[in-house]
Amino acid sequence: MIHIDGTHGEGGGQILRTALGLSLVTGKPFSIQNIRGKRKKPGLLQQHLTAVNAAATIGSAELNGAKLGSAQLVFRPQSVVAGDYHFAVGTAGSATLVLQAVLPALLGADGPSTLRIEGGTHNPWAPPFDFLQQSFLSCLQRMGPVVEIDLQRHGFYPAGGGAFCAKIEPATLTPFELCERGEVQSITATALVARLPRHIAERELVVVQKQLDLSDRACRIVEVSESHSPGNVVSIVVESEHVREVFTGFGEKRVSAEQVARRVSQEAKAYLDSGVPVGEYLADQLLIPMALARGGSFRTGPLSLHARTNIDVIEMFLDVKFAVKEHDDGTTTVSVTP
Ligand code: ATP
Repeated sequence: MIHIDGTHGEGGGQILRTALGLSLVTGKPFSIQNIRGKRKKPGLLQQHLTAVNAAATIGSAELNGAKLGSAQLVFRPQSVVAGDYHFAVGTAGSATLVLQAVLPALLGADGPSTLRIEGGTHNPWAPPFDFLQQSFLSCLQRMGPVVEIDLQRHGFYPAGGGAFCAKIEPATLTPFELCERGEVQSITATALVARLPRHIAERELVVVQKQLDLSDRACRIVEVSESHSPGNVVSIVVESEHVREVFTGFGEKRVSAEQVARRVSQEAKAYLDSGVPVGEYLADQLLIPMALARGGSFRTGPLSLHARTNIDVIEMFLDVKFAVKEHDDGTTTVSVTP
């Protein structure tokens, strides 16, 4: 039994999701105390509980402590079964983070799986659907497995009600190198408004276009009418020779469209200036696949506490060692060896 302290490092939900995923992969049971111990509202929220139950379903796991608000959990998996699954968060909690918890196990399962996951699809502090599809999964595909996701309905805070389907074709993961970005080939921006006035998107694109010097052709507006609550997202996609990165700004009440657009443009600019291929979020999400591949490396900016904490949890389950090398120019090379 692996014992985990949920206040370790960043002390958030990632510790739990990584433990669930790798417990399923290895068959090693774990217990965790002080779940999300460093968050303002600690314990299992609906999104985390859905991930726990999803992982338990896929791996026929025995559970102890799987209740809303619980600060501890014992998880004892049996074998992972590929298949057709349906999970619903039931709130606007992130559906993409539920996928994050079960994906490692299904990548190595004995057959293909299809999932339908309901909840938030475009949440701040979680991988937005477009990032997952265009950035993370395109990297993962280079390691072997084929994972396709299809958005059925956008889900925003507070109503949620979004849904996407995932088709997972397992494969043995092969080591992955992403230390150079290569030439930037295109930069495009999409401003999406769901049940909100079009002028919000127009104002956002004026700012993004100016900040990143984009042509009219590189910018587009998407209007969505069927979401359960209104929402607004600005996505900037930077396509380079070796990687595609996606930066996302989220519309908020009492924050102007211009401010939302300025923030996300600055994020994209900082990435472009840094010269690294891997941005902050992609960095913490590539760690598990790389560890499963038992090899590979990537270059990113300063490594977040989130990523460092993830490394510690991965090393508790898998027989691999990460090396984090900080360079004088502020960039970092992360590599993993068996
Ligand atoms: P808590 O920490 O409150 O328990 P949580 O479980 O919702 O929250 P975190 O543990 O903070 O979430 O993990 C968030 C995940 O979402 C990380 O994998 C991070 O890379 C990803 N993420 C956050 N924001 C973005 C973004 N803008 N683009 C891509 N990925 C993102």
